[in-house]
Amino acid sequence: KRSSPAQAEFYQAAEEVLECLRPLFERFPHYHDHSIIERIVEPERQILFRISWIDDAGRVQVNKGYRIQFNSALGPYKGGLRFHPSVTSGTIKFLGFEQIFKNALTSLPIGGGKGGSDFDPKGKSDNEIMRFCQAFMTELHRHIGPTCDVPAGDIGVGGREIGYLFGQYKRLTGRYEGVLTGKGLNWGGSIGRKEATGYGAVYFAQNMLNSRGDDLKGKTCLVSGAGNVAIYTIEKLYELGALPVTCSDSRGTLHDPKGIDLSLLKDLKEVQRTSLEEYLHHHPDARYTGARDYPQDGHAVWHIAADAAFPCATQNELTATDAKVLLAQGVHCISEGANMPSTKAAVDLFLEAKVAYGPGKAANAGGVATSQLEMAQNSSMQQWSLEKVDEKLKLIMANIHQQCADTAEEFGDANNLVLGANIAGFRKVADAMIEQGVT
Ligand code: NDP
Repeated sequence: KRSSPAQAEFYQAAEEVLECLRPLFERFPHYHDHSIIERIVEPERQILFRISWIDDAGRVQVNKGYRIQFNSALGPYKGGLRFHPSVTSGTIKFLGFEQIFKNALTSLPIGGGKGGSDFDPKGKSDNEIMRFCQAFMTELHRHIGPTCDVPAGDIGVGGREIGYLFGQYKRLTGRYEGVLTGKGLNWGGSIGRKEATGYGAVYFAQNMLNSRGDDLKGKTCLVSGAGNVAIYTIEKLYELGALPVTCSDSRGTLHDPKGIDLSLLKDLKEVQRTSLEEYLHHHPDARYTGARDYPQDGHAVWHIAADAAFPCATQNELTATDAKVLLAQGVHCISEGANMPSTKAAVDLFLEAKVAYGPGKAANAGGVATSQLEMAQNSSMQQWSLEKVDEKLKLIMANIHQQCADTAEEFGDANNLVLGANIAGFRKVADAMIEQGVT
C-alpha cells in the first residue's frame, strides 16, 4: 500500500526486500499464516519531537527530532542518528527498516532502530552543535537505555556529537552507562568503532573477490563521500594494497590519480571540516569537479576508470546512468559503505552483469556490529584491544558474506547477494517473531 510520496525511500527499501522474499514464501508458506510481512513493515514505535535551542545570536531555533523503534525481535533497538537538512520521517523510516535486516545479518542480538533531525550542522559553531545536541537529548533520553534502545552516529553525527549527547544523557539520568555507541576511547568507546564501517565494507569486497579467485591488491578504486565511512574505506584499501583515487562531498568530486592523500583528507574533513576543493592547494595536479558540472542524471565520481567502486556518501547517489558507465569501464566489484546508495535500476544492472555486488545492508554492517561489541565491552566494564576488535570484525564480515552467498545459492540465484542478504536477514527476524507470539 503506497499511501504517501513522502515515504518514497521507505517504499524503495521495502519493495526490494519484499520482492526477494517471493521464493522463501513459496517454499515456506507458514510465514503467511503469521502475517509477518504486515507486521514487519510497521514500526513498533515512532517518536517525533520538537527540538528548541538557542543559536549564537541569541535567537530561538526549532528543529524536528525523530526516533524510530522498528523491530525488537532480536534485541534492543540499535541504529544511528542522522543530522542533515534533508532528513524527514520517511528517511528515518527507510533507514530503520534497512537496519532490522542488517542487524540480523551480524548474528548479534540487536533489533532495528534509527533516528535523527533536520538540523544542519554545516556552518554551526561548536557551541551551537553542543546546545543542539543537549536539546535533542533532553527529549530523547526518556526513550532510550542500554537494554532498550542504543543510538549511534550516522551522517552529521560523529565523535563530537556523541560526546555532547552522552554528556547530556548522564546529566539528566545520573547514570553512566552504554546508552550510545561511538563514544570516545577514554570514556567507554570501543577501539576500532570509528574505523569499522569503512574497514568492514573493504573486508566485504575482499570476501566477494576471494570467492571469485580474485582480490583487491593492485585494484584502482572509486570511493564517494568524504566522511567517516569514506575515510576509513580509503585507509583499509591502502592497507590491502589497492589504490583509492577519488572521494567526494556534497559540493564536488576529487580525483587524484596518484591516490588520495589520506592524512590531508583527514585533516580537511575531521579537523578543519572544510571543502574538498582545499585539497588542490596541496596537490594542484589533482582534479576537482563541482557538483554543478556533474553529468546529467549522474555523478562525476562514477565516471572515472577503475576496477572497484565503494559508494560511501548517501542514498541514491549511484544512478542507472552511473552504473552503465561503471560497467562499461570494467568495474567488477561494488561494495556499499552507504545505505541504499544505488538506485533500484542501478542494482538491476549490477545483478544482470553478474559483477560482485555487495548491498549496503550486508557490506556496511561492520559498523553496527562493532557498536554491539562496544555494548558488550560496556556491560562487562572492559576495553578490548584493537587486535581483538579487528579480528572479530573480520570474522563477522566473512560470516555475513558466507550467509548471503549460501542463501543466494539455496534459493537458486548464486552470486545474487541482494537476494541472499534479504532472505537471510528476514528469516532470522521472522522466526524470532513467530517464536515470541503475536506482538
Ligand atoms: P558523514 O557525515 O561522516 O559523511 C557523509 C559524507 O557524505 C560527507 O562527505 C557528505 O558531504 C557526503 N554527503 C552527505 N549527503 C550527501 C548528499 N546528499 N550528496 C552528496 N554527498 C553527500 O557520514 P557517514 O560517513 O557516517 O555516513 C555515510 C553513509 O554511510 C550514510 O549512508 C550512512 O547511513 C552510512 N553508514 C554509516 C555508518 C557509520 O558507522 N557511520 C554505518 C553504516 C552505514 P558533506 O560533508 O559535504 O555533506
